[in-house]
Amino acid sequence: MSLIAPGSVIGILGGGQLGRMLAGAAERLGFDVDIYCPDTDAPATRVCRRHWQGAYDDGALLAEFAAACDVVTLEFENIPVGAVSVIEASGTPLHPGQRSLSLSQDRGDEKAFLNSIGVATADYRLIDDNTDIAPALVELGAPSLLKTRREGYDGKGQAWIRSPADIESAWKSVGMAPCILEAAVPFEREISVLVARSSNGETKTWAPPHNVHLDGILSTSTVPSGLPADVEHDAREQAIMLVDALGHVGVLALEFFVLPDGRLLANEFAPRVHNSGHWTPEACQTGQFEQHIRAICGWPLGDTRRLFDAEMVNLIGDAGLVTPDHLEPGDVLTLYGKREARPGRKMGHITRRLNPRKD
Ligand code: AMP
Repeated sequence: MSLIAPGSVIGILGGGQLGRMLAGAAERLGFDVDIYCPDTDAPATRVCRRHWQGAYDDGALLAEFAAACDVVTLEFENIPVGAVSVIEASGTPLHPGQRSLSLSQDRGDEKAFLNSIGVATADYRLIDDNTDIAPALVELGAPSLLKTRREGYDGKGQAWIRSPADIESAWKSVGMAPCILEAAVPFEREISVLVARSSNGETKTWAPPHNVHLDGILSTSTVPSGLPADVEHDAREQAIMLVDALGHVGVLALEFFVLPDGRLLANEFAPRVHNSGHWTPEACQTGQFEQHIRAICGWPLGDTRRLFDAEMVNLIGDAGLVTPDHLEPGDVLTLYGKREARPGRKMGHITRRLNPRKD
């Protein structure tokens, strides 16, 4: 891939906070940013050179957008594959490509792929309709977790089944859509690995954060994770194996459950910058947003060394109405510019920089 130079135009599919933070990093490296997104007032659309407002099935507008950009990327993985095909057909490079996207859009395909490359996951069964659930529950044991194959996020589209009596209500609550039933994992903690891969195959990972979720939504990400070095190393190696197998270009986040004996079970991956990497710009030499821009532009990847111990705290709902006087020295506040706080809505985050690292 040829190197994309400063002054070029980066196109981003999606207009949320991840797009806004990507646009900030791109702008600092000398790029212009265009955003393609259906919504009028989304966070990224207010910081870009041009907002292309259109639906993801508007092939003509997507083609025009692609022609105006030197490279196109995305900030959320549920972009319809049809939209991605239009960009790919336009000749403008698109990173990451369809393979990373389509696998991450379907929990069944995603888990099968992870297992096929030697990344272990929880045991699961594919569920096409409610009659598949009872036999799967017998095989996996109760409790098990019913998850929609497509479009679940932040714990949405999930229902625990604790006994056969829960089957019908769980099936209704996930919308009677194709699902997987997944064995409960008695994890000790959850971590994620942020990994970047550039078009020339160079890879870099960051120290894996310990992630705590509340009501299915990420609450805090902390480094160091407190895990032994060999467990962290194993997680980082598995993430590299994944991006190599996908031929992924850009940043990707791979989430793991850590069992009490240190074994790792992958939960899911997001083929993009990720909330659990939001501490990296303030606590590392190179943050995830800059790294993603470097990777898709064919630049050498930046050094990912960690300069501080850190904790990232999500500001959710009304907590996002914070004012800067709540901050301690060393804290960095990022707000996403959303006009309205709603329960469960991610409004911003604080990165608390703790001990500086000397190594
Ligand atoms: P997910 O949408 O798959 O990321 O799930 C959201 C959260 O639900 C995870 O971060 C876990 O805290 C919890 N969870 C998901 N799958 C399982 C499982 N198989 N066993 C126990 N907890 C789970």
